[in-house]
Amino acid sequence: MNDCIFCKIINKEIPATIVYEDDKILAFHDLSPVAPQHVLIIPKAHIDNMNGITEESGAVVGHIFTKMKEVAKQLGIEDSGYRIVSNCGVEGGQTVGHLHFHLAGGRQMQWPPG
Ligand code: 5GP
Ligand code: ZN
Repeated sequence: MNDCIFCKIINKEIPATIVYEDDKILAFHDLSPVAPQHVLIIPKAHIDNMNGITEESGAVVGHIFTKMKEVAKQLGIEDSGYRIVSNCGVEGGQTVGHLHFHLAGGRQMQWPPG
C-alpha cells in the first residue's frame, strides 16, 4: 500500500489545485503557501527525495526544470523572479517523502533561508 500523499494527489485520491500536468510531472498549489505564489512540482513516478535520483530516474528532473519557467509564467512571476527549493531529509526540512520542488515567488525572497 502506498501511503504517500503526493502519490495520492497524482492519482486524484486527494484534491489539489493543479496548474500543470503531463504524463511525467504534476504541478499544484501548496496547501500552506509561504509566498503569494507557491507551487510544488513533482515527478509522477515516486522518488523519496534527491538522494533517490538515479541516472535513469533523473531524466524527469531535467523535464521538471524545463517546464519550471512555463509554470512561473503561468503564475505571473517569470520576469519578477522566483525561487526553486527542494528540501532533502530531516535537517533539510523535508516533511513529505516524495521528491518535490517548491516554486515560490510574488514577493522579495531573502537569503540565507531559515
Ligand atoms: P517539504 O516540507 O517536504 O519541503 O514540503 C512539503 C510541502 O507540501 C509543504 O510546503 C506543505 O505545505 C505541502 N503539503 C503537505 N500536504 C499537502 C497536501 O495535502 N496538499 C498540498 N497541496 N500541499 C501539501
Ligand atoms: Zn509518492
